[in-house]
Formats: sequence, structure tokens, C-alpha cells
Amino acid sequence: MAVQRFDNLIGGQWAPADAYSRNINPSDVEDNIGEFASSSNTDMDAAVEAARSAFPAWANASPQLRHDVLHRVGEIIMRDKEMLGTLLSREEGKTLAEGIGETVRASQIFTFFAGEALRLGGEIGPSVRPGVDVMVERQAVGVVGLITPWNFPIAIPAWKAAPALAFGNCVVLKPAELTPACSWHLARIIKEAGCPDGVFNLVMGSGKTVGQALVENDRVDGVSFTGSAGVGRQIATNCAASGKRFQLEMGGKNPMVILDDADLELAVDVSINGAFFSTGQRCTASSRLIVCEQIHDEFLERLVSRASALRVGNALDQDTQVGPVVSEEQLNQNLGYLDIARDEGCEVIGGERLDGSGHFQRPAVLARATNDMRSSREEIFGPIASVIRVGGYDEALSVANDTDFGLSAGICTRSLAHATHFRKHARAGMVMVNLPTAGVDYHVPFGGTKASSHGPREQGTYARDFYTTIKTSYITA
Ligand code: ADP
Repeated sequence: MAVQRFDNLIGGQWAPADAYSRNINPSDVEDNIGEFASSSNTDMDAAVEAARSAFPAWANASPQLRHDVLHRVGEIIMRDKEMLGTLLSREEGKTLAEGIGETVRASQIFTFFAGEALRLGGEIGPSVRPGVDVMVERQAVGVVGLITPWNFPIAIPAWKAAPALAFGNCVVLKPAELTPACSWHLARIIKEAGCPDGVFNLVMGSGKTVGQALVENDRVDGVSFTGSAGVGRQIATNCAASGKRFQLEMGGKNPMVILDDADLELAVDVSINGAFFSTGQRCTASSRLIVCEQIHDEFLERLVSRASALRVGNALDQDTQVGPVVSEEQLNQNLGYLDIARDEGCEVIGGERLDGSGHFQRPAVLARATNDMRSSREEIFGPIASVIRVGGYDEALSVANDTDFGLSAGICTRSLAHATHFRKHARAGMVMVNLPTAGVDYHVPFGGTKASSHGPREQGTYARDFYTTIKTSYITA
């Protein structure tokens, strides 16, 4: 059977590219999901021009129109959730429950921002000059480039595209090379929902070519990026040089502190969830488990026993708990970090490559880790967690904060005083008490401090800060 080709969406039309790339299922490398456009700079320029042409009408459209389009997108995603969730698990490798859960979240995001399109109020007040009124209002930024990673292939495009569209911007989405299928379907759905031609454009292909072309295009007003810190910094430099606004989300090395007074079973549960679910491929994953000494040995024993019992396998099998690593390259990188950890003096428990049709790896616990090891400092982005022993709360907090990153930080404790102190003093954009570091709501801000994030927060009402610009007007009769 011929493998289907998936084109770009430019100016409301499906536009073929000169070249196409395979989209391989990480659970079964024989399974080619399709041939997806591997675009050129010319395709990207055409998409940006289409977005520019569509911008004046969309920016000035009635909020009711924008609401209705976004609401329909939310409804169609929900209608197609089984198909989309299955496709997501097939191309990215998270379990089916996680794939469908992420799809539902994408639908909720569109429905939320449909409402936000109607709620874009402003302010009016007296000027300091007699007889003059001052108005402060928000307007669309213009054409925004959205560059997204592979680990949340529908939720991240949704949480960037929905606010962008709600507030009147036109979009060019450049999804990750490894997971273009969910973005292609999102484009199909946005078109089906009646979004005017050119308002939302999809250009698939490599980051180094079309990603960079999008960032460097003078006709783009802003870039929202989620991905690695290295690429994020490069994008920041390019955007600063060309005067674009930019928003960066770049990962973490998230601490989960376990105090001596923690509910041990709960602490193990949140650690297993935070470290290993979604194969640890979340920027909010708990990659540093910082454990106080009285509880350490029992915690480690239970953690290892639970981790080694996790069923690793094909993402689409109903009883799989941990799907494959996303690619061969990522799996080799994970295995390389286990060697580094061993050389640094960790006891590596689990983590071996498993036989099978895909990139399967058993979750790994790095016992006897210290916070200065490379494996404790660099984001690995796999099912690997360091266990770092500390004396007590003060040391735990100091180790938790001793990192370049600052996305999410968690604590397990029964002490309200310690939970409150941690909430105030953890240098992270998000704090979790007795909950996994990963797993967040869609109606409140998402983002971090230090090297994790740059620019206004994503999601919730705060998303408007990136996707709108403020205009102040003075009027006298
Ligand atoms: P990951 O390791 O999660 O793939 P990357 O930062 O490499 O993280 O990729 C995130 C997104 O950034 C992808 O869509 C990728 O294609 C894109 N990208 C990679 N390099 C560049 C670049 N130089 N300019 C713009 N986008 C890029």
C-alpha cells in the first residue's frame, strides 16, 4: 500500500513540498506513519506572506468570529480524540491513555481560549490633562512563528496557537520533525472549523532550515519556542538582533524533595509518576529525587521495586505503563548518560535497552548520586532519575535550588511549615506539594525561572501578555 503524503498548509491550501520525510513509530520502527513535507525556505517565505496578507482582516474580525472558530476547533478535536490520541501515541510513544489525555487537553485549551477571545477588555481613565481621556487596549502582535518540540505533539501546538489566534494574530507553525502528524491534523481541523485562509499556516521540516528561516524572516513579529536550551538561546539572539518579541520554554532539571515526615507511599507514587511516566520525556519530569537521610533507604528500596515492575512496551498496548524512547538517537544519548553516571560513581539500577520492535528502555534509578554530577545537572530527557541523599530540609532546599534550571519543583511532606517555606523559596516557576512535578492545569500559567524560560508565561489568561501588544490612546473632543 502506498504511504500517504502530508503537505503543508499555506494560505488555506494544501501545498506540496519538493521533499518528504518518513515519520517512524518509535514502538515499531517498521511502521511508517506517513511521508511528511520536508520544506524549503521558499515554502516558509510563502507561509509568512500568506499570514501577513490574512492579518489585517483577522486582527479586526469580530471576537465572536474568533470565538466561534476556536470553539469549533475544540469540538472537532474532542470528536476525533480516539483517532488523534492513537496517532499521538503511535508517533511520539507515550501510552494510549496519555495520548488521549493530551488530546482532550488540546481540546480544552481551544475552548478556554475561545472564551478569552471575548474577554479582551481594556481600560479607560482621565488624563492628567483636563478634557482628555486615556484608553489602554490590547491589540494583536501580528504574524507569530510557533516552533514546537516532539514531546507534547498536540498540546504544545494547541497552547501556542489557541491564544495566538484568539487575540487576532496570524500563525505559522513549525512542528518538530519527529512528530509532524498531530500538527498536520491540527491544521486540518483548524481549516475544517472555518478559519479564514492564511490565518493559520503549517510548514513542516527541519529546524536548521525552515525553523531558522521562520525566526530570521523580517515579516514575522514574534516567535514562541519550546525545545532545548541551546536552540532557545540561538533563537533569542536572532530575535533580539531583528527586533522580534520572543518567548522561550527550555526544559528543566526538576527537584522532588522527600522529607523524613513524608507519606512514603505517596512519595514513591509521585516520584514514579514524575520521573518515568511519558517515558520521562517531559520538561517537568522529576529528574532529581532529593531524599532526607532517615527515609532514604526505604524510599530507594520501594522506588527501585516499583520502577523495575513498570511494564515497558508498545505505546498502543493497553497494559503498557511506559512507552518507548522517542528515537534511536535519544535512546543512545540516554544510555550515554548512564555510562557517565556510572563513571561519576552512581549505582545505576535498571536503564538497560530492551529487545523489541522499538526503542525500549527500562526506567533507570541513579542511586548514590550527588548534585554536582553531570547526570544531576544536565537535562537528560529520558526515564532516568537521580536519587540524592541530604541531611534535612535546609540542605534539601539548597540542593533543589542549586541548578541552572527553574521550571517545576516538588516537595513531599506532612509539615505545613516546610511546604509553605518551600513554596516561597523554591526558585522555580511552578511548585507542587505532595504532587508530581509534572502534570499541570491548562487554565493557569505555565513556565519557569532561570535557564528554563524567557518571556511572558504561556497558558491561562497570562498568555495574552505575549500574544498582544498594548496601545495607549489619548482623546479629546
Ligand atoms: P528537541 O531536543 O526537543 O528536539 P530542539 O530544540 O532541537 O529540541 O527542537 C525543538 C524545535 O526547534 C523543533 O521544532 C526543531 O525543529 C526546532 N529547531 C531546531 N533547531 C532550530 C533552529 N536553529 N532554529 C529554529 N528552530 C529550530
